[in-house]
Amino acid sequence: MTVSSQIIHQHPKRITAVIAALLLSGGGGAFAVASFAPDAAQLPVREVLEPVQALPIIVPADLDLQALKLFRSEVTRSSDTADTLLKRLGVDDAAAAAFLRSDATARQVLIGRAGRNVTAETSERNSLLKLSARWNSDTNGKFNRLVLEKTARGFVSRVESAPLTATSHLASGTIQTSLFAATDEAKIPDSIATQVADIFSGDIDFHRSLRKGDHFSVVYETLEGDGEPLGTGRVLSVEFVNKGKTFQAMWFQAPPTANTAPANGATNVADSGDKGGYYTLDGQSLRHTFLAAPLKFSRITSTFKMRFHPILHVWKKHEGVDYAAPTGTEVRSVGDGVVDFAGVQNGYGNIIILQHRNNYKTVYAHLSRINVRKGESVSQGQNIGAVGATGWATGPHLHFEYRINGVYTDPQNIARENVTTPLSDSTKPVFARLAAENRVALAAAASMQSGNVQ
Ligand SMILES: [Zn+2]
Repeated sequence: MTVSSQIIHQHPKRITAVIAALLLSGGGGAFAVASFAPDAAQLPVREVLEPVQALPIIVPADLDLQALKLFRSEVTRSSDTADTLLKRLGVDDAAAAAFLRSDATARQVLIGRAGRNVTAETSERNSLLKLSARWNSDTNGKFNRLVLEKTARGFVSRVESAPLTATSHLASGTIQTSLFAATDEAKIPDSIATQVADIFSGDIDFHRSLRKGDHFSVVYETLEGDGEPLGTGRVLSVEFVNKGKTFQAMWFQAPPTANTAPANGATNVADSGDKGGYYTLDGQSLRHTFLAAPLKFSRITSTFKMRFHPILHVWKKHEGVDYAAPTGTEVRSVGDGVVDFAGVQNGYGNIIILQHRNNYKTVYAHLSRINVRKGESVSQGQNIGAVGATGWATGPHLHFEYRINGVYTDPQNIARENVTTPLSDSTKPVFARLAAENRVALAAAASMQSGNVQ
């Protein structure tokens, strides 16, 4: 949608906000939840339901025409020159065009770069008064803003920096073929899909256990600068129903405490420095002893299919799980442990065996690369090697096994104890309030889906 030629008098900011609301509610639902700040202590969640107002079209009789300003927005194209961009913005101003051609800052930001939203403010005679564009600078939660302005001395340009604001979005979907197909359908960014897979990486093997009909609801942040969406933030809460079993999670970061240093000198989770994490809505940590899968879920690994019979398991019966993935895909340790073996073994090719607590071992075979050495400690999620086709394998894939006391065990049956980081007593009320808000938000997200189903 291109918003152009809107006549705006006196209230450009308000109009920008309305336009942003129009863009953001593109799915049809006029909704919005809270601004969840990362600091949960400052989280009085507001339900904001802002009606979209008609833009003022009729020019009031007392309008001072000398003061009339026109605002137009356009998106840059890679083929743009100073002249084509200004023309699309409705600017007819030779001095502005000359400045845009010669000013290094403005050129760098606007010319030859596709997809940047640019707003021009012009006089009623289409001469340029001000031009601005925003982009995510990926540093410390800030965005950059180019401002090109007419002054008494001619045009000047500058780049400013300002904090991004996070707004919450609700979405839901149902798995028909794959998680990414479902998130694409729901217009959910890829980074949110992979975050969801990460959050439940201790509970659900997204490569192997998804079923048609599994469904999810998610509340996530979009990062905005001056009301314009500039990036994707964090998943705030999510519910995933896998094979009829419901998993829920919410982001929680304990607020820094001023006066609750425990008498015994021990630290607790509410002390400042809590980096935050995902919890069930009952307050249990979602960290588990083992990850459900040794490969990170991604668009690539989720669509890579084995083109051959995965392996010539002729030397013994196949005891393991095979994950198809391109050669070079990162292999991660499913749990904390120590490297028991790293090298070559007959049919397994390059293989890593990790020793975990309670006589659990995990096995990663056919690797193209080994990143660890015997005796080395590894932590959960650590990149220990890469997928390959070494040994008796007819195509790239990861052969993975659990062994308990030396006996192969079906990964589905591995006990997944929580690694609990208990919430402190002082944190619990804040957590409970946020959990209640998340329940409401997730219910709203889920109802959007049923509303969409015809
Ligand atoms: Zn295998």
